[in-house]
Amino acid sequence: MNVPRRPRVLSGMRPTGPLHVGHLVGALDNWIRMQDELDCYFTIVDWHALTTDYADPGALLRNVREVAVDWLAVGIDPDKSPLFVQSDVKEHAELHLLLSMIVPLSWLERVPTYKEQQEELRERDLATYGFLGYPLLQTADVLAYKADMVPVGEDQVPHLELAREIARRFNHLYGPVFPEPQARLTRTPRLPGTDGRKMSKSYGNTIDLGDDPATVSKKVDSMLTDPQRTHRHIPGRPEICPVYQNHLVFSSAETQAWAAEGCRTAGIGCRDCKAALKESLVRRLAPISERRNALAADPAAVDRILADGAERARTVAASTLGDVRRAMRIERR
Ligand code: SF4
Repeated sequence: MNVPRRPRVLSGMRPTGPLHVGHLVGALDNWIRMQDELDCYFTIVDWHALTTDYADPGALLRNVREVAVDWLAVGIDPDKSPLFVQSDVKEHAELHLLLSMIVPLSWLERVPTYKEQQEELRERDLATYGFLGYPLLQTADVLAYKADMVPVGEDQVPHLELAREIARRFNHLYGPVFPEPQARLTRTPRLPGTDGRKMSKSYGNTIDLGDDPATVSKKVDSMLTDPQRTHRHIPGRPEICPVYQNHLVFSSAETQAWAAEGCRTAGIGCRDCKAALKESLVRRLAPISERRNALAADPAAVDRILADGAERARTVAASTLGDVRRAMRIERR
């Protein structure tokens, strides 16, 4: 009897530095839930990091390991889902090359993030093929596994639409090989960093998964609050306060209600409110930190997990590439 295969999902993350709690609630919590119902592949996309950081790759290998440790520490289970480094599976590069033959330049130029990111990272020279072609590399990452779904935020939808268009064009030219991957839209809670802007490494406003309690405490102390609440006796507006937004993600319903009520009635001070947030964050990060330390002390075990993940991923990607070469009539054997 044929057992229907579970929908396959491909998710990746760039190794650009230590992961923070924004990654945890924005992506990783969702990945952990998906592992039980779907056939998940998780990849650390080091070639993608090179598309913007090609001039300064010194930290890349360290960052790859850090991401692997963070993923394992939060609960990504390598027994359930292969966890691997993109550059360990060369089929991604071959598929990128073959797809580049059929993708009109205009499709890549019109991806909205192409111009936006060039503007944002104006200090770097991003007039490179690698940068223009990175949505195509993303497409190859997804299609190499014939993934049915890709978890994306709103801003990534155009990239996935491009992947779907490329899959259609390939199938039209050479015959049906690829499913059209569907977007699995993930709703992410709004999580401001310490300065009130979106939590992001580039703003230097993050609380990292590896932060110890003293560091968490220092960062929460520096967190912006409602600017109108200049004195303890002035009531505040929790709905515009970054500390309260963090309570909404990390604290119990009871603590959230206490903070909101206490803030609006000036029954508590910002220092009390921040002390409660520190407790919630430290409670959430303590088990992660314990697992992180154990994994960091055994780099060989992390390497084995990545090697095993690459092996399992390569089996699937190699089979897809066989289909692709045969469809394109370039397979000699
Ligand atoms: S009491 Fe809490 S929610 Fe209100 S302004 Fe201060 S830190 Fe923000």
